Amino acid sequence: MTGRIAENLDVVRERIASAAKMSGRDPDDVTLVVVTKTRSVEDILEAIACGATDIGENYVQEALEKFELVGDEPRWHMIGHLQRNKTRQAVRFFDCIHSVDNEELARETGRRAVALGRTLEVLVEVNISGEESKSGIEPEGALELVDKICPIEGIQVCGFMGMPPVSQNREDARVYFARLRELWDRLPKEQRVHLSMGMTGDFETAIEEGSTMVRIGTAIFGQRHL
Ligand SMILES: *Cc1c(COP(=O)(O)O)cnc(C)c1O
Repeated sequence: MTGRIAENLDVVRERIASAAKMSGRDPDDVTLVVVTKTRSVEDILEAIACGATDIGENYVQEALEKFELVGDEPRWHMIGHLQRNKTRQAVRFFDCIHSVDNEELARETGRRAVALGRTLEVLVEVNISGEESKSGIEPEGALELVDKICPIEGIQVCGFMGMPPVSQNREDARVYFARLRELWDRLPKEQRVHLSMGMTGDFETAIEEGSTMVRIGTAIFGQRHL
């Protein structure tokens, strides 16, 4: 494949690999979630043709419309805030929910998944920035939440997701990533599978601090205009 998306994907993969190597890690331990909110089905299909295996979306309705056309070949990640009244639709096709931040949402997700005979991976979203406007549970309560929701059927708790405050300088994010990593290290081994952190502006720093999943849109598709 040649073309803008193919080239950008190659560059991103190389950047992921070199950040991993620089910090003594195996590049295969970092999963690239290609973030496709606002992007067309054509763009998604092109990314998949170029080897994208994991697709991230922020809104259930938008994602569902794309899923109907793209199908379940890639793994679908819900990376946006999940409203409880959208869980029924979400569990139909998402494989991993990155944004569980309360017990009720976890229970609802599990109940709906069991009804469909599915098991979804879930990550607990931690509010590492401390900004009140952001979703996510505060770090002090994160381990306890994991403890509470682990036994729920229909979900498998696989780690944490977090976002640093918006900044122009990727170094600013390091301390936030490091804190989330420290918290993640305290999870029971079975829950220490994924650490979802790092976006276009800061994914190399995130990888250096231990991220196992980076969520990247802009570096692959260009600026969003919507
Ligand atoms: C949009 C979004 C991303 C991707 O951001 P880019 O800067 O375009 O790479 C990652 N994570 C979440 C939660 C997002 O909403």
